[in-house]
Amino acid sequence: MEKEIILAKYGELALKGLNRGTFEDIMMKNIRRRLRRIGKFTYKKAQSTIYILPESEDIDLDETVDCLRKVFGIASLCRACTCEKSFNDISAKSMEYLEDVLLGAKTFKVEAKRADKQFPMTSPQICAELGGILLDKYPNLKVDVKNPEVTVVVEIRDEYAYIHGGSIKGAGGLPVGSSGKALLLLSGGIDSPVAGYRMARRGVHISAIHYISPPYTSDRALLKVEKLCQKMTDYCGSIAFFCVPFTEIQEAIKKYCPEEYFTIIMRRLMMEIAQKIAEQDECSALITGESIGQVASQTMQGLVCTDAVSRIPVFRPLIGLDKTEIVETAREIDTFETSTLPYEDCCTVFTPRHPKVRPALKDVEEAQNKFDFSVLIEKAVAETEMKIFKFSDNMDF
Ligand code: ATP
Ligand code: MG
Repeated sequence: MEKEIILAKYGELALKGLNRGTFEDIMMKNIRRRLRRIGKFTYKKAQSTIYILPESEDIDLDETVDCLRKVFGIASLCRACTCEKSFNDISAKSMEYLEDVLLGAKTFKVEAKRADKQFPMTSPQICAELGGILLDKYPNLKVDVKNPEVTVVVEIRDEYAYIHGGSIKGAGGLPVGSSGKALLLLSGGIDSPVAGYRMARRGVHISAIHYISPPYTSDRALLKVEKLCQKMTDYCGSIAFFCVPFTEIQEAIKKYCPEEYFTIIMRRLMMEIAQKIAEQDECSALITGESIGQVASQTMQGLVCTDAVSRIPVFRPLIGLDKTEIVETAREIDTFETSTLPYEDCCTVFTPRHPKVRPALKDVEEAQNKFDFSVLIEKAVAETEMKIFKFSDNMDF
């Protein structure tokens, strides 16, 4: 059997102009980092494609493809067989390489892409010739150009020709690290991991911040968030995780502020702390999992009150999504099950019986000014602990 190769094709990246090289370099670095665990590969980039060639036979290509499907910037992936650029070799190899699928199918078509215009046959000629040969060899097959079970793709490229049975959808987006760094407010819920995933997909490198309120929140609750963070590294690469002790602040809110404003004040103080950590960690923006109207603090007026304390942009990639859509993505990225484990979040500590649904900013400010939180904020920031989660760290939970 001929050596198999993986072709990783760019999406949006191919449209980039002068700075395309920078995007490519970041993506290549991300790919190398992911695949290091699997084995040794040789890499080449040409014609909006990264060619990934395994250096030894024992490399598991299914696992390699699974891993690459989580690398942002790759629009599609093909596992292909390399051939000489002669029609004889192409037809011989396509029968050898795709024999099993061709034997098991009823309909097929051939698709040819000719990046090398010097190749003596045109694309329609390749399709017609190879289609005829395959029909002769496999009596079980019929041609169906509209909806074939198998598409035999022949790609004539610079050095070699490649044959494969169609491409697999990649993660799309832009390579992580190509759009700067932002700090994700990561709770143990369903929404915030999805928000982080969405921004990472736009090339943003993610750090995460989480607020804990022991003894009201348990070690298990923190462990659950750490597990979510670890799961996110599959897509996001390494994540610096900041854990903020929030108990004293919450107790002070309860003691000094009017109950109906508890949640909104708590959220404003979370934002204050997040900005300080963002500054230390060189993050240019914050990310939250808020979606308009989902809960009392996520009304437009509520968001106005939380935004008022923020001096850097707050990205809310889920703002216009329904819960069902968010859940769908959470399942896709495998965070849903962990997110729905029943541990308490600090947001559920001291929740007001009747939260203000449409708080006015000046009332919130007045309620918050009943106590000077600045010393407690500085203390929480000083006592924040950081750890790094890396792709391929295996956490045992
Ligand atoms: P999620 O499912 O992400 O927890 P939610 O619908 O439960 O969101 P809230 O609890 O109001 O909504 O939280 C809104 C956002 O605030 C979250 O998406 C997250 O970004 C942030 N957040 C909430 N609790 C915490 C926490 N303990 N630590 C860090 N961020 C938090
Ligand atoms: Mg929550």
